Amino acid sequence: MASDKAGRESDVVHCRNVRQSGLRITEPAEVDKEYMASVFANCTQTWLESIKYHLGYQLDFNFDYAALNTLQPFPLNNFGDPFTKSNYGVNSKQFEVGVLDWFAHLWEIENDEYWGYVTSGGTEANLQGILMGFAQLHYQVNIGTTFKGAIDDLDLVIQTLAECGFSRNQFYIHCDGALFGIMLPFVEQAPQITFKKPIDSASVSGHKLLGCPMPCGVLITRIEHVNALSKDIEYIASRDVTITCSRSGHAPILLWYILSKKGRIGLQKDIQKCLQNAKYLRDRLRNAGVSVMLNELSNIVVFERPPDEEFIKRWQLSCQGNIGHIVVMVNVSKQKLDAFLDELTEKLSTWSKEGAHRCVAFDIGYENCVCLLHSPRRGYCFCFFYRISFDNNNRGRDNGDNRGHVLYNNWRGWLWSRGGSYSNNNASTESQPSNRSVPA
Ligand SMILES: *Cc1c(COP(=O)(O)O)cnc(C)c1O
Repeated sequence: MASDKAGRESDVVHCRNVRQSGLRITEPAEVDKEYMASVFANCTQTWLESIKYHLGYQLDFNFDYAALNTLQPFPLNNFGDPFTKSNYGVNSKQFEVGVLDWFAHLWEIENDEYWGYVTSGGTEANLQGILMGFAQLHYQVNIGTTFKGAIDDLDLVIQTLAECGFSRNQFYIHCDGALFGIMLPFVEQAPQITFKKPIDSASVSGHKLLGCPMPCGVLITRIEHVNALSKDIEYIASRDVTITCSRSGHAPILLWYILSKKGRIGLQKDIQKCLQNAKYLRDRLRNAGVSVMLNELSNIVVFERPPDEEFIKRWQLSCQGNIGHIVVMVNVSKQKLDAFLDELTEKLSTWSKEGAHRCVAFDIGYENCVCLLHSPRRGYCFCFFYRISFDNNNRGRDNGDNRGHVLYNNWRGWLWSRGGSYSNNNASTESQPSNRSVPA
């Protein structure tokens, strides 16, 4: 049987990682005709099933690329600089430059003032940003953290650098916009990535909100940084400062296609839908009595980790310690959320029999925590006063009334003065729970 030729489950343990089973590579003579077909059919089935329940990661699957099937046979490779001609003709650099121009326009820098390229992902774009600014004081600003969707205050960073006496050419600011770099420009009142401010580079992932089916990313930087760094590589007859040598020629075409098909209006609609559905999910979780937080301008709903590993696996929730999150992407419809919520509410009664809600106050803020200690109904005395502040704060924010902020800030001062913080492991603004991201 075909499946016999597939690798078996292995219990071998290397270091502390359990080894994944691998599909054995067979010699062509051993393979019957149907084997390959059945391997691919099995995988496709698994992937389709996974997509049905997928909630935890920042990927999207909402697109039809059938029109691009004709590109598949071409070994498209854009190695080197996208702006210089290479002798290797099977490239898609016209598409790549088109995509870069689009992002340059989005982030407000003129075509002749920027340099950039389509990377293998957000991470490579960030690394390239670090490389470009290696000679200066380097500061990376998070435009939406991966786990909680918190946004660093770029203006405060700029102001602090100025107050510390750094002149413009002494610092380099890279904006990591892996997820939100494409989202915020389409949200009114949101803080923006713009080269009108003294930033030096910005990045975005192509496979997150844009839904590119292969991992890729975009880096845009000021042209003076690349001129300082460039070197000539005669071998490919192309100036090259990119980290990798060979680069996908397919990814830029896919990005070009997605941006052209969706357009700015389509993107805006997608993004609004994500934000609305995220609020819907937050409200329903809150009503179900689950500790939950949603940062302003974010589509990442963070909540207490369900005490059921099977459930986590089935919905492919991404978890860290006490908390898990759902990234409400374009393909995460209300129906899909309803299916998840129905299953969750059904299980909640079983879970709560086994134990109370775990405390997630330090992960997502006291005001969002419904554990025994912090639940609005059962709070201990000493927390009670502070909860009034949060309630005011929450109501204030929802109604556009700022009264609660003063109390909120008082509380933050109180907590910090006692050495507490929301942070569970690092000092990044990942840990800032709420109104950091509200534009002034
Ligand atoms: C996803 C993400 C990254 C990594 O991007 P990849 O495209 O997966 O390499 C980096 N920073 C932030 C904030 C992210 O959300």
